[in-house]
Amino acid sequence: QFPFGRRLPCDIYWHGVSFHDNDIFSGQVNKFPGMTEMVRKITLSRAVRTMQDLFPLEYNFYPRSWILPEEFPLFVAEVRMMKDSDPSWKPTFIVKPDGGCQGDGIYLIKDPSDIRLTGSIQSRPAVVQEYICKPLLVDKLKFDIRLYVLLKSLEPLEIYIAKDGLSRFCTEPYQEPTLKNLHQVFMHLTNYSLNIHSGNFIHSDNVNTGSKRTFSSILCRLSSRGADVKKLWSDIISLVIKTIIALTPELKVYYQSDIPAGKPGPTCFQILGFDILLMKNLKPMLLEVNANPSMRIEHEQELSPGVFENVPSPVDEEVKVAVIRDTLRLVDPQKKKRKDINIRYNYFMCHRCQTLEHVSEANEELLDAGPADRREYGTTRSPEAGLPSLCLKQVFPKYAKQFNYLRLVDRVAALFIRFLGVKGTTKLGPTGFRTFVRNCKLSNSNFSMASVDILYIDITRRWNSMGIDHKESGMCLQAFVEAFFCLAQKKYKSLPLHEQVKSLIDFCEYHLAALDEKRLVCGRG
Ligand code: ADP
Repeated sequence: QFPFGRRLPCDIYWHGVSFHDNDIFSGQVNKFPGMTEMVRKITLSRAVRTMQDLFPLEYNFYPRSWILPEEFPLFVAEVRMMKDSDPSWKPTFIVKPDGGCQGDGIYLIKDPSDIRLTGSIQSRPAVVQEYICKPLLVDKLKFDIRLYVLLKSLEPLEIYIAKDGLSRFCTEPYQEPTLKNLHQVFMHLTNYSLNIHSGNFIHSDNVNTGSKRTFSSILCRLSSRGADVKKLWSDIISLVIKTIIALTPELKVYYQSDIPAGKPGPTCFQILGFDILLMKNLKPMLLEVNANPSMRIEHEQELSPGVFENVPSPVDEEVKVAVIRDTLRLVDPQKKKRKDINIRYNYFMCHRCQTLEHVSEANEELLDAGPADRREYGTTRSPEAGLPSLCLKQVFPKYAKQFNYLRLVDRVAALFIRFLGVKGTTKLGPTGFRTFVRNCKLSNSNFSMASVDILYIDITRRWNSMGIDHKESGMCLQAFVEAFFCLAQKKYKSLPLHEQVKSLIDFCEYHLAALDEKRLVCGRG
């Protein structure tokens, strides 16, 4: 541990909370710049909403949400409209303060007028969300799932999911929300940090029982009841990939700002904690993403009143040790070197058999197999020999083909970053925006440069007035995305939004490539 920093370079830097170093020039860091900001309740809701605007069906795994205080009037209006169109709809909503954790400040309401607008909401922004009233119950209790996800690289995108996670149980039998039980946190909130204080919390040394169990034990139960567990896993993988696709555009803006391309800097990876709720029909719903999930493998036990002791928690240990161990195996800087040596050794062995085809086959087999399944060849005995097989399963780029069509905002972010100009910024100035419009040939007789300026000022002013980030002036990525959607709607009127946006991206990329080509030719000339 180096609480005051360390001068000598390391292969891997493991930070406790967030990325905060500007003086690391090599190696790998276990946090991405901007991740903590990105997974806050408001930012996550905004990023998912952009994707819901483009792909409503694909992103229906996140409850309908409104951002307070600014969307309070919209919340009231939309709820009224939905109630008018379906009088039998009796919703419940959950209000969650932004930046809160461990259930802090969360409460349930039946009607928008029940929001505590006085005082705290003004000083503490929040998200209000449709409450999922029919969760899947096990032993009559509500529970949620904590899954660990490794974002190994942003560019190219590489995602791994841990094969097992934790299920955290409520400690009072669940009832659908009524005015009488709305405040009963041990019934409605699954947070470990809350339920541990209920007299009913059960610590268990068995991963199949108690108030915290492994997710695999739940899957076994479901499977024995005849549930389609394979489909459930595939829905969870899809939820994780889609959520990360919603986060990557802004993460890339933060990344280029903190670690500019072409300058020496570290690469990043990060373990994320995904909180997922299963609905009664087994549909997984995303509750939130944690940038700094707890990796504790002990829990506190009260020996006598007021006297606590840390005791090992076998459930936590089983899941979390594997996640950390395999993250280190995957990012191990020595691994690539060993892989190269193994490939060369294989080539030599197979050459002796005079069958060159075997070389590529053998290599593929080697790379496909998890390190523990790998046979040892020659002298480069892997230090991983004898370790259990990897608990982290690659899902991206493995399933990239199925999801790449969703990565439209990533391409909009690439345009944004191109016009940011001076490295180290996250906001686009008016000149940058004009250059973008001009270089992409977007202005014409119907859309003058004066209208371009008005669009810039209108949207930028509104986003900046929401008070997200006052450090820099200019247009943030979300504001640029909104302006881009506006331009797309103007240009390709009759298409659905995602096709309008895709057409405009293609159009811009085409003109920019032509411009690059022209510059290259001129340069040569
Ligand atoms: P925190 O960061 O404070 O833990 P969460 O968003 O995880 O906030 O919410 C806390 C708990 O509230 C969750 O673990 C879950 O049990 C419950 N919860 C949150 N959102 C919903 C929802 N939309 N529907 C049903 N239950 C929810």
